[in-house]
Amino acid sequence: MGKGSNTQVWKYYTVEDDRIRKVRRECPRCGRGVFMAEHSDRVTCGRCKYTEFKRKEKERVGKGAEEDGKGKRRKQ
Ligand SMILES: [Zn+2]
Repeated sequence: MGKGSNTQVWKYYTVEDDRIRKVRRECPRCGRGVFMAEHSDRVTCGRCKYTEFKRKEKERVGKGAEEDGKGKRRKQ
């Protein structure tokens, strides 16, 4: 029981660290030194207005519901 909990905590921190690294992006147009501003679903450059949309990861709960709904939908 205790071992399982420990593994989950380590996983959580690894994901968070990876997320922070991806957020701090430099503008592909302006080059080095110009960082993108973070928004909820996109990142934008305050200098040249370059915008790049983030890809939303599918939630585990939503994925399961989608598969279940698909099967029901095909039923005629
Ligand atoms: Zn830029």
